[in-house]
Formats: sequence, structure tokens, C-alpha cells
Amino acid sequence: MPKQENGQREVSLIQNDLSESIEEEVRAFLGDEEKLHLFDDLTKVNPVTTRTVLKCLQARYRVNLFYTNAGCSLVALNPFQPFSCLYSPELMREYHVALCPQDLKPHIFAVAEQTYRNVQKQMDPVNQSIIVSGESGAGKTWTSRCLMKFYASVAASVISPKGNETVERIEKRVLDSNPVMEAFGNACTLRNNNSSRFGKYIQLQLDRFHHLIGASIQTFLLEKTRVAYQAPNERNFHIFYQITKGATAEERLEWNLPEGAEYRWLPNSERNLDEDCFEVTRGAMLHLGIGPATQSNIFKVLSGLLHLGNLQFSNPVDESQPCELEDKTKEFVKTTGDLLQIPTEELLESLRIRTITAGKQQQVFKKPCSRAECETRRDCLAKVIYARLFEWLVLVINENIYTDPSVWTSFIGLLDVYGFEAFPENNLEQLCINYANEKLQQHFVAHYLKAQQEEYAAEGLQWSFINYQDNQNCLDLIEGNPLSIFSLLNEECRLNRASNTDLFQTRIEKALSSNQCLSRDKFNKKPNFIISHYAGKVCYQLAAMVEKNKDAVPPELVHVLQNSKDPLLQKLFPVTEKNQNNTKTQNRAAVVTVVSKFKSSLEHLMEILSRTTPHYIRCIKPNADCKAMTFRREEVLSQLQACGIVEAITISAAGFPVRIPFQSFTERYKLLRKSWGSSKKRVWDKSSSHPAEKEGEIPAMGDDKAPRAAVLEILQDAARGQTPAQ
Ligand code: ADP
Ligand code: MG
Repeated sequence: MPKQENGQREVSLIQNDLSESIEEEVRAFLGDEEKLHLFDDLTKVNPVTTRTVLKCLQARYRVNLFYTNAGCSLVALNPFQPFSCLYSPELMREYHVALCPQDLKPHIFAVAEQTYRNVQKQMDPVNQSIIVSGESGAGKTWTSRCLMKFYASVAASVISPKGNETVERIEKRVLDSNPVMEAFGNACTLRNNNSSRFGKYIQLQLDRFHHLIGASIQTFLLEKTRVAYQAPNERNFHIFYQITKGATAEERLEWNLPEGAEYRWLPNSERNLDEDCFEVTRGAMLHLGIGPATQSNIFKVLSGLLHLGNLQFSNPVDESQPCELEDKTKEFVKTTGDLLQIPTEELLESLRIRTITAGKQQQVFKKPCSRAECETRRDCLAKVIYARLFEWLVLVINENIYTDPSVWTSFIGLLDVYGFEAFPENNLEQLCINYANEKLQQHFVAHYLKAQQEEYAAEGLQWSFINYQDNQNCLDLIEGNPLSIFSLLNEECRLNRASNTDLFQTRIEKALSSNQCLSRDKFNKKPNFIISHYAGKVCYQLAAMVEKNKDAVPPELVHVLQNSKDPLLQKLFPVTEKNQNNTKTQNRAAVVTVVSKFKSSLEHLMEILSRTTPHYIRCIKPNADCKAMTFRREEVLSQLQACGIVEAITISAAGFPVRIPFQSFTERYKLLRKSWGSSKKRVWDKSSSHPAEKEGEIPAMGDDKAPRAAVLEILQDAARGQTPAQ
């Protein structure tokens, strides 16, 4: 297998050094264009190479076949065009009642049904997980939603004769979690109008009759920066547009949202999206137990954030004085204070003045913040409120859909997780996302290798993947102990020293130079490091990485929030005994960094996944412009690489890339068989070396059903270089 200079396995197979014979096979295979779309399992493509696989996927896409099996994964191509018949209740039923759903056309419902049957069969492990991955806009959330609808339909509880409403409503509540989570956690980005800005794992809980009786949701890494910063041509979270567009006249007064008002944190609001529908969110919240009063409170706080975003500071004439608010923004400090129920002066002070405790006497000094610091504090206030609100919403939703573990006996977990990311500039967010993908890839490869080994064993083939090197090296680099990028990042946060990214770069290189997955972009003047991920190299910028990891909230901000009179903010920022004893304790408390929090929640997830039977759905975005029915090979290829399908192909290629049914093999190569000739009607004896054959699983075969023994014989003869019998 080709190697990269750093010793990593070369994943790209575009320039695969296929031996001439395989190249010939490729040509022969692709020659038969008419038949390419018939391959509903990519592992049956022969030989398995990226070229053949791509051609087949393209041929299938052309004839509206968007789903294709790939061994233990399902590849899902996004049509970017509704095909309602593909997700109709009738089709759900068809897969549900099929004798063998896998014999029907590949579909997410086939995966869903198989998963469901595994639970019913008490498969080991009985709990199942469906891991839906892919890049932004590939169709993960769409797929997860369809899967949830499938289970809400096929696993719906039978209503008791007495009409047990609670039981009936649970499916609806579980489905209603989607619009709420999407309103608060999704946004319109350059890559997807309804892009999820968080990862989600939902456990659908089943009782002993395999009825859906509850669910629980776990979320990961909400992109909270979006509240206060939206990249050009992107938008804030949908909910902000929903309230500004959908509030009634009365609510506009209450939430201080006059028609036509402009907010800095609400760009591109002239763009009208289906996702802007406030009514849907409200209805779903209601079903989830969030009543009108609490809803109103939530939207008032959100409106407060929009007002907060309009605050702008100017430099003071005298540096010893706090920054002034720009004239045109002065009115917003009052409205923000009113909406968040914080006295205006206190709010302003928390944004402009830092309290420092120093000296043996623990004297308290007040120091005005610079303009940049004031702006950072303003953004930080919005981010911390939004992040806590999101967490709290998930908690409330969980309380309303969760069932006691004593009642449910098994579960099906759905993971809708952001795919591998490599942008021109990457930072802590991409590091976490790509780390999660490395973890999932390791999980997938382990499972895939196991499945392959089992298949080979069933065929009586001896094989070990000696050439295969997994991604442990890369994971060690990111999260290993005692030294790794995460541990060094955490150390920087703990030591709390002035950030010097040049020094930090040197420190990383010194400590981790022995890891071949680490390098640096020497032409890039900014401090950086490169990680060679399984899906490709990614260059990460060190600027602001330590601060992002610290994710510190100035104690003055926590303090004003704790003193707010708003009932919701009081819930989100409770005054606990620990933080009552002023800010000192907080400063000294162990810093829980972003990476350590993320690592532990991911480890918890991996622990759950490892105890389930996994199923993989790989969503592919066939073109970056979200154009209907447009398939761009280069783009598909890079995603096949990033989602691990190429990896699976690589593993296949490390084993037996060419798989020919026995019959075609003997037909084609019978000339090579020394003893082939007169006895055309020979009946194969039962002394075959193949265990399955001995047990009689493979029938004794004549010419029309070529047995394994004949194949082996031909291969052995060919290997000995014996001339075929004429
Ligand atoms: P992701 O969650 O991977 O970022 P989404 O699931 O939000 O992507 O899908 C992006 C968009 O693509 C959806 O809003 C929808 O318009 C379209 N889409 C995705 N899957 C399908 C499908 N199977 N059929 C039709 N359109 C789809
Ligand atoms: Mg999504």
C-alpha cells in the first residue's frame, strides 16, 4: 500500500497503483455502462476502486436511485429535490412488512427496519445505533428526521381500549423535539439553509413489546459564537428571525421588537426561509410542556440579546475612564437592561469595568476595559446566555420525552453528527469536530474489519489485514496521555499565562515531534500546526485557540446575570453556595476547558456506541451549490474519502479487491484448469476442504454452479504455472 512521507497510509485512491490486471478489469467493468446503475451494493462492484464506485453511484443518481449499500454502510446521495414518494407512509410499511427488507431497494427504511428487527431478535448487543454522517448540507438531519418518523410510525404504541392519551402522544412529542431543536440550534449558512450548529444523539427507547415509549437527547458543541458573530452572507439562529417576523402586535410591544427595527446580529433577515415559521416552533414547544408564559419569557430574553448586540463602544478621551457608548446605541442599553431585568447601570458597569483582586489584603481594584474588551464582554454575555438557554431547553425536552429506565428495555440511538471539516482557516471548533470524526472512524473501521474477517472466515479464506494501519496515531496526537495537543492546550489554560502563540507552537512541536501525524505549514506566517487526519491534512491556526479553549466568562457578567430579576435568567444562572462567596472562588476553581468537556462527552458517547450494534448511513452532497440532481464527481469523491467509504474500499483492497461469483469465475477461467476437460458432467465430491461445504450448506454442484473447490483448484494450477489442459 502506498505510504505518505510521514508514514501515514495513503488514503487517496485516485491515482491508485492498480496492477495492470485490475486496470483491465476496471475497463471491462466500466465498459458495460448500461448495467452500472444495477449495482445496489458497492462491495459487489468489481473490482472495488474509487473509479468504479464513483461511476456506479453516478449512474444510479441519474436514474433517481439515491441509496446504495456499501457493505455495512448505506450511501445516501442528496437529490436536493423533494421525492415525497420516497418517504411515504406506504413505503415505510412496505419495508416494515417485507420478509427481508434488505432484498428491497437500498433505502434508509431498510436500515431502519433491519435495526428494529435486530432489537426484536434480541441480537447481541440488543441495543442498536444508526450513525448518520456527512458534511454540512449532505442530508444528515433530513435522514435522522425520516428515521424518527419511521419509528414513530412502525413502533407506535397501540392505544389501549381506554384511550391512553399519554402513550399516544409520546411519538408526537419525540417528533416535536425536532422543530424546537432546529429553531434554536440551526441557522442558514453558506453551505446549508438549515444547517445544524450542534451535534445530536437521540436515544429512542422501546418497551418489551418494542413500542416507542420515550427518548432522550444529548447534544454536542453548540456553535454559540453565532449569536454574536455571523460570517458574511450567513444568518443567526433561526429563532431570532422567527420572533422578529412572527410576533403579534402585542408581543412586539412586550418584547420591544417594533416592526422594521434593525439589529446588528440579525443579518440577511430579508431572506425568507421555510424555517422562519414561528408558529411551528411555538406549537412544538407547547407539546413539549413549555407553556405560553415560559415561551414568552424565552423570547423576551432573546429579544434582549438582539438589543444587546446593538451596543457599540467608543474609546474614551481619557484612558483612565471607561469606554463610552456610541450615541446612536445609547438607547439600547436601557432596553437590554429592561428585557433582561438587569439595572442599566449594573449592566453597563459589568461590560466596561473589570474588578481585580490583588495583594495580601485582597484589595479590590476597578479597571476600565479597553474598547475591544468591552465588545468581547458584550459578545460573551450573549453567548453564555444563549448556550445556557439551549442546554436548559434540551433538559426540559428530555424531561418531557424521557421514560424511566425501569420501563424501557432497549433503545435505538440516532447520531446526527457533523462531518469532517477542512476550511482555509481552522481553529478549535474544527479540531473538536475532526477529533470526533477520528473517533467515529476508528469505531467504524474496527466494526468493518470485524465484518470483513467474518466474511472471509465464512468463505474459508485465511487473511489478516497486515497492511492496515489504523488511526490510533492520530488520536494519540490529539488526545493521548500524557502529552498531546489537548493536554498542552489545557496546560496553557491552567497556567493562565499571557498567550504567546509562537511559543506555544514551539512547545507543541517539541513535545509531539515524534508523532508522524504532526507537521506545520512552513509557508504560513501565522503560528499553526497540521494534523494528517484519515480524511486528509488540516492546518489549524493557533491564534485565539487557548482563549477559545478556556471559554472564560468574566465573573462580573456571571454576577449581573445571577442578580437579574428575570425568572428564566434566575433559572439559568442560579446562585449556588459556591459562587455566592464572590468571584475569588471562581477564579481559583479548576478550569473546565472546552476540549476536556468535549472529550468526556464524546468518550461517554463512544462508550454507549460500543455497547450497541452499529449501522452507518453516509450522506453525500453531490454538489456544493445544493443544486437539484447535479452530481459532481470530484466533490463526491472527496466526501467518500472523508466519510470513510474510501477507507472501507482501501480495507477491501487490502483484502480481496476482486470478488467474482464462483460461476462466472469458473466460466471465465476454466481454461486454466488442468484437469478440466472430458468429464463435463462431473459431480463434485464432498471431500472439499471448505468447512461450509462439508456441512452441506453449499450444494454439490455441477457445471452450472461452480463450487469453491473448483475455484481453488484453478487458482492453484495457475499459481503453479501449469498450462491449461486443452
Ligand atoms: P445536514 O444535516 O447534513 O447538514 P440537511 O439534512 O439539513 O443536511 O439537508 C440539507 C438540505 O438538503 C435539506 O434542507 C433538504 O432541502 C435537502 N435534502 C436532504 N436530504 C434530502 C432528501 N433525501 N430528499 C430531498 N431533499 C433532501
Ligand atoms: Mg444538520
